[in-house]
Amino acid sequence: QVKERGKGHWRFYEPGMNADLLARLQTDHAMRQSLQRGEFELFYQPRVDLRRARVSACEALLRWHRPGTGLVLPGAFIGVAEETGLIVQLGQWVLDRAVAQARAWLDAGHPMQVAVNVSALQFERPTFVQEVADTLQRHGLPGRLLELELTETILVRDANEALTRLQALAALGVELSLDDFGTGYSSLTYLRRFPLHRLKIDRSFVVALDEPNPTDEAIVAAIVRMGHALGMQVVAEGVEQPAQLERLCRLGCDHFQGFLYAQPMPVADVTAHLEATVPWRAESSA
Ligand code: C2E
Ligand code: MG
Ligand code: MG
Ligand code: MG
Repeated sequence: QVKERGKGHWRFYEPGMNADLLARLQTDHAMRQSLQRGEFELFYQPRVDLRRARVSACEALLRWHRPGTGLVLPGAFIGVAEETGLIVQLGQWVLDRAVAQARAWLDAGHPMQVAVNVSALQFERPTFVQEVADTLQRHGLPGRLLELELTETILVRDANEALTRLQALAALGVELSLDDFGTGYSSLTYLRRFPLHRLKIDRSFVVALDEPNPTDEAIVAAIVRMGHALGMQVVAEGVEQPAQLERLCRLGCDHFQGFLYAQPMPVADVTAHLEATVPWRAESSA
């Protein structure tokens, strides 16, 4: 095999040099086929409201049933999809399916907010807000039952444009959260400008709460206080141990997600879970 080097110059392709590129192209090709064939699936992970002790939302997490491989987690393909631009189509599919699911749960008597992760590439498209509005309208879903999870990258790249877009999304009733908070670059000045409803404390801070540690607790306490001071709720992600949950409660965290409560699950399992908790919910609201 040969590789082009400038005009009319060819040299031998070195095996291994582009093996990674080749694998990424194959992944991209396979993802495109799978998108056509319906081999992607959304799993949902419940988010729990700590004070009301009930499921307050479900986060849609993408899964790929890759032929010949099995179930593939986003860590192994989202990066490639972002690189090739396929994330735009994939993201539209995710949004459509998640909104349809929220509508199906609403129709079944389970008004459940669904949270959707949004990539920067998707958010930066001029048509993004319109796509969200169209999707809500197509499925007849009230905007408040959709939450978009954004990352700090989205906010810092073009803060003015981001602000305009977030305001337009908020005007649709859509709620906005900042995912993986603490791992990015957002400054306080930025944060206070944006109409964000929630901060999701990154799992790395939660992991540190498994043992008593004044420094880590002080960091989480500061994030919680700052979020609250800016009028936001604070969500902890990746809670695996009772000790972490106990500390998060004490530090004033509002919601949590994590294996301690539930793993991301296929729709049928989430629905069964929601149905099982209905009598309990009715009781607690009476
Ligand atoms: P994220 O949005 O921060 O999602 C949380 C990740 O933590 C999920 O991984 C979830 O399964 C995992 N998780 C939840 N609870 C626990 C826990 O207690 N312990 C541990 N160790 N992990 C926990 P997942 O599903 O592999 O997704 C990874 C990332 O991929 C997501 O991070 C998100 O950034 C991205 N992603 C997933 N679905 C989509 C999507 O539809 N669109 C886009 N753009 N990105 C997505
Ligand atoms: Mg997320
Ligand atoms: Mg996160
Ligand atoms: Mg994360």
